[in-house]
Parts: sequence; structure tokens; C-alpha cells
Amino acid sequence: MRKIRPFGSPRQRAREYSVYGRQRFTLMFQLGASATLLILALILLNGLHLWRTYHQALARSEANTANLTQALTQHASDTFVQAEATLEELTEIINQQGLTSEKLPGLHRLFQEKTHGLQQIDAISFYNALGRMVVTAADTLPSVNDFSDRDYFIYHRDHADLTIRIGQVIRSRMTHELILPLSRRLNNPDGSFAGVLLESVMISHFRHFYTKFIISDDSTLMMLLNNGTVLYRHPYNEKVIGTTIADSPLFKDNIRQNQSGTVNSALSNDPQSMVYSYAHLKQFPVIITSGVTMDQALADWRRDAFSHAAMTLIFVLMISLTCLLLMRQVRARMRIELELIHAQQELRKLNTSLEKLARSDGLTGLYNRRHFDLVFKNEFKRAIEYHRPLGLILLDIDFFKQYNDIYGHVAGDECLQLIGNALLELPLRQRDLVARYGGEEFIVLLPETDKNGALAVASRIHDRIGQLEIQHRGSPVGSISASIGIYVGLPIINVDTPSKLVVRVDGALYEAKRRGRNRICEA
Ligand code: GH3
Ligand code: MG
Ligand code: MG
Repeated sequence: MRKIRPFGSPRQRAREYSVYGRQRFTLMFQLGASATLLILALILLNGLHLWRTYHQALARSEANTANLTQALTQHASDTFVQAEATLEELTEIINQQGLTSEKLPGLHRLFQEKTHGLQQIDAISFYNALGRMVVTAADTLPSVNDFSDRDYFIYHRDHADLTIRIGQVIRSRMTHELILPLSRRLNNPDGSFAGVLLESVMISHFRHFYTKFIISDDSTLMMLLNNGTVLYRHPYNEKVIGTTIADSPLFKDNIRQNQSGTVNSALSNDPQSMVYSYAHLKQFPVIITSGVTMDQALADWRRDAFSHAAMTLIFVLMISLTCLLLMRQVRARMRIELELIHAQQELRKLNTSLEKLARSDGLTGLYNRRHFDLVFKNEFKRAIEYHRPLGLILLDIDFFKQYNDIYGHVAGDECLQLIGNALLELPLRQRDLVARYGGEEFIVLLPETDKNGALAVASRIHDRIGQLEIQHRGSPVGSISASIGIYVGLPIINVDTPSKLVVRVDGALYEAKRRGRNRICEA
């Protein structure tokens, strides 16, 4: 029996493996590409989300800073409006009453009333043209009564304008508080310099208010003079008060140029990136700035971004892992499929050869009796259906028993093979069939053949066997010969059967034997 190779021929295997390789590559590529696309889409979507939320957070922090600035501006404005109103009222009274010594006690009480009425006011004082304090809200005048060196005094002495001036922050010589001086020049009826009316606003007033806003230590709230001088800074730092930010790009490029605005920038001496908002007070030369560090502004966004990035990473890892597992499964499945296909092919081949084995005669290579019976049955039906004649030739080797006895069984087998080959080489039509019918008997099925045709085939067989000239001392003719029976007929429905036809051809063969063998007889 043929040995069955597990995977076909090497060339076939190479071809199959190359097809398998291509399919596997395509599938892996599709899987990999899908996973990559999914990952890219995920990263892109998250990137877009982070970009959008980053700008939202920035916009929100800008809005918050602007609101903060607005609140501080309102507070400063209210403070200065109140102070201005007081100064104006007192100026009017002084101008009306004059500053004669009998009026001074009344003015002292008035100053006291105003000071007590406004919490933010440290003191209200009037200095004469020499810089001496003449009236104050305090109960006593200072022992060293000379304020002619004060910035506000010098300014008003040298400037004729009667508007309210906000000076730099100074420390009060009487209460030792840090104060913001709001001052105004007073004139004599002839227009000459009469003195200065001062209202000092406590820096602690701003400190109390600014402390209400919870901001990080890096963030700053500032109140500036419009020349850039710092009036107050929160978180509180006394050293900064009185310094200037006039040279900072923020001040030069933005604050000085616009009434209000929001900038994402950094002060010249501040390396940290900040979101700044600023606004000029409408009636006073004061500017409010709020600066929130980007760290504070983006703290929430950073937390959100971090959790998003972590989630994205987890998803990317999960997709990659799933893809890898899928790839492994696909590879394994494809290998199994390939092996199954091979197994199927081998089984098919095995079946074919088994079928062939089941239909053929092992010794001669002709079809066997079993196959003949099947084909004969079909041809018989066909012949009935189409009313076609059916021919049968039955052939039996003469004196074969003697041949075996004389030359041995192996020689007998060889003789059968020679006759089998001769029958195989017969020029027959496609539907004709030659089979080994029994021991030394052969049968030929000739569908749609008339008597002459069958006779011609039988004669050819007879001649061919004679031409083989197989020596047979036991035969009267000296060589192997065969007796042949022929039957040709039109099978009749419900009368004839395949076996009845075989009986008829067998009868003809018997007749050939009876008449002396080595001949052809018709039924
Ligand atoms: P007849 O002329 O009347 O046909 O006589 P015969 O001797 O040929 O017929 P018989 O039926 O008496 O003997 C047939 C012999 O064929 C008997 C058997 O040993 C032999 N035979 C059958 N099959 C084989 C086979 O496969 N190989 C061999 N060597 N001999 C076989
Ligand atoms: Mg016989
Ligand atoms: Mg015989």
C-alpha cells in the first residue's frame, strides 16, 4: 500500500505555506492596523479633549482673575470715593470758616467725628503753609511738629492744582501705622498756599479685605499708583510696598497702555508664568492687578489631564494586549485550519485509493466483480430506459487447472496477469468495461453494442490471447487459449434482470466449452 505523507509534496507544501503566510500576514496586518488606528483615535480624542479643557481652564482662570480684579477695584474705588468726599466736605468747611484759632476746637471735633465714622481712616490732619500740623483728629498735636519734609506737603506747596492726590505709602509719625496719604491743597482767599488737608487711609484696611481672597503664595494681588509704585501687595510683604514695577514688560506693554485687560505673562523679575488681570480706577490714579500662577490656574486641569492620560494609557495597554492575544489566537487557529485542510486532503486521497482498491482486482489491475456488478446494473437500467442493446462477453481460460498443475500457481498468476494486460490494452469505447469475473474468467460489458460489434471485440480478444503464445503442454493446442461466450440483446423491462443476462452469456460460454473450447459461441 502507498505510504501516506503527512503534508503532500514539498512543492505543494511550500505553495500552501506561502498562501498561509500571506493570509496570516494580511490578517495580522489588518488586526495590527485596526488596533493602531483605534489607539491613534483614542490618543487623538483625548488630546483634543485635553487641548479643549486646557483652553477652557485658561479662559476660566482669566475670567476668575478678571472678576477678582473687578472686586478689588470696586473696593479701592469705594474707599477713595469716601475719603475724597470727606476731604471735599472738610475743605469746604475750612474754606467757609477760615482757620482762626477759635474755630480750631470745632474743626478738631469734626475731624474726630469723621475719623471715627470711617474705619479705614487712620487720621485727618491739616498742615499750615509751613508744614506744621494745626488741626488733627488726635487729641494732642505731635511734640515735633514739622511735616514740611513730607512728600504730600512738598507736592501741594509746589503745585497749584486742587485735586486730591494719592501719595506713596508712608509710616505715620503719630500712630506708626503704614498709611496711604490722600491729600489736598488749600488756598487762602487770595489764592496763595494755605496748607494741606491730609486723610490717611490705613494699609491694614486693604490687608483685611485682601486676606479674604484665598490665593496661592505664588499668586499676587496688587494696588499700584499709575506710575507703577506698589501701594499694597497681597500676600503681604512690606518690603515690596513702595517699590516699582514700572520697568516690567507687563506694566510697559499692557497696564500703561490699556484701561483694563487680562494678560498671560510674567513680570520682569518674576520667572513664573502667570495669568494677570488689571484695571485702572476711573476717578483715581490707581491700578489694581491680580496675578494667578499658571500652576494654580491649571491645577484642576492638570489633575483631570493626568487621570485622562492614565485612563488612555490603560485603554491603549488593554487594546494592545487584546490585539496580541487575538493575533496569537488567529495564528493558532490558522495553523489548526491548515492542518485540518491537510488532514482532509490526505483523507480524500486515502478514500480515493481505498475506493480504487475496493473496485479493482489485485492480481490483474482490472476492475473486479463487485465493480462490474454495479456498472452492469446501471447500464442494464439505461439499456431498458433508452431501448438500447447491451452486449456481454464472458471468457474462460481453457484447461487452466492443468496449467497450474503443470507450471505451478505462480506461473498461473503470471498467465492471468498477461491476459489481464491484453484485455486492458483492448481498444474499447469509454463506457465499455473489462473486469475479472472469477478465478480464470473475465467479462466484458459492451453498452449500446450490436451482435457484430460484440463479435468483433470477442474475436480480437481471442486473437490477442492466441498471439500471447503462452505455452500450455496440458492443452491440445499447446498454448493458452480461451473459450468465449457472447450475448447481445435488448433487455426487456420486468422480464430481464442483469443476472438473467449473465446466465445467458454463461450458457454461450458453456456451449463454447462443450464444442471443444478455444472458440466463440453466441447465446
Ligand atoms: P475448463 O477448460 O473446463 O475451463 O477447465 P479448467 O481447468 O480451466 O477449469 P476449472 O474450473 O476446473 O479450474 C479452474 C482453475 O483455475 C482452478 C483454479 O486452481 C484455477 N485458478 C482460479 N483462480 C486462480 C488464480 O488466481 N491463480 C491461479 N494460479 N489459478 C487460479
Ligand atoms: Mg472456469
Ligand atoms: Mg477454465
